[in-house]
Amino acid sequence: MQDSALKNKTCLSGLSETELISLAEKMQWPSYKGKQLHSWIYKKWVSSFDEMTDFSTKDRNYLKENYYLSPLTLTQKQESKDKTIKYLWKLKNNNLVESVRMFLEEHESYSACISSQAGCAVGCPFCATGAIGFKSNLKANEIVDQILGIQRDTKERIQNIVFMGQGEPLLNYNEVVKAIHLIKDSVSIGARRITVSTSGIAPQIKKLADEKLQITLAVSLHAPDQKTREVLVPISKKYKMNELLESLHYYYEKTKRRITIEYVMLEDINDEPEQAKELADLIKTLHCHINLIPYNPTETSRELKRPPMNKVYKFKEIVEKRSGKKVTIRHERGVDIDAACGQLANSFKS
Ligand code: SAH
Ligand code: SF4
Repeated sequence: MQDSALKNKTCLSGLSETELISLAEKMQWPSYKGKQLHSWIYKKWVSSFDEMTDFSTKDRNYLKENYYLSPLTLTQKQESKDKTIKYLWKLKNNNLVESVRMFLEEHESYSACISSQAGCAVGCPFCATGAIGFKSNLKANEIVDQILGIQRDTKERIQNIVFMGQGEPLLNYNEVVKAIHLIKDSVSIGARRITVSTSGIAPQIKKLADEKLQITLAVSLHAPDQKTREVLVPISKKYKMNELLESLHYYYEKTKRRITIEYVMLEDINDEPEQAKELADLIKTLHCHINLIPYNPTETSRELKRPPMNKVYKFKEIVEKRSGKKVTIRHERGVDIDAACGQLANSFKS
């Protein structure tokens, strides 16, 4: 739909059931019609008002004149050999963001990797989104509608959500928390199946802990020492290692949810056995597991390299033995379409 056609219209995607009920009442409709709207949007993933067959033609016309269903326009879609699908969406402000749908063999279910911002201000040197810089914060409905948009397209239910697309979720805190509530209550994906990945915005981690959501927190640590971390995650100059670790312990105390430590492995930068030992000692008392992510080369960071896999295995073994924690190595998906989480952004630019 043309943007001009949407002027003065309200978007329905992103409204809660309560909001849809009061919207129905405002139109002097019985409140159950609000519930029906909620169900068409979030459970049946309709793309048009005409699909709402329990509304009369008159009601549907009224809805068409005053409302629209999605704040996103699908601009491009790519499917990889392993069935991973990458979507490019255009926002109302014309910025582009991406989402990826993956099949998780171990759970026999679909997972969506979604964006919370267009671009990102944190500027990690290995990340394609970081190379773009910050463009804009997504609204809660633009976050949630990525999931609905994927379900509308595939007609298959998504059961896991990871905030590992573009952006730093905790720098768009309010809209992300609002989106999490909608994902739980309206999209009906349980909090335990939602993971927020952050570069380590310590004060916001504490704030999130106080929300007492049962979501999983993943933290992009990437280095066991302050000096290396400052190179890999520039915002760590502001939120230092000690403060970050303190916030992680706090998160666990408040939520009793085990934390995921993410560690992108880069050759000759953070892959040495000494660093594995240091990492193990650093996180020994934290309730966490460690996810090693072999670096996915991006066009914007050609000088960086992925370590040989035997070095990754060695690193895993050291951390595992010394810390007693579970260590996993992230399995890549959609490599042929650059769909790996965190490196979505640049590949669509022509
Ligand atoms: N901004 C958040 C979430 C988005 S990035 C964060 O940084 O945590 C999601 C994950 O992908 C992060 O752990 C990030 O470090 C990782 N990532 C980014 N670019 C990558 C690349 N080129 N190779 C491997 N992992 C990458
Ligand atoms: Fe931003 Fe995360 Fe990319 Fe760093 S890794 S630039 S925090 S999106």
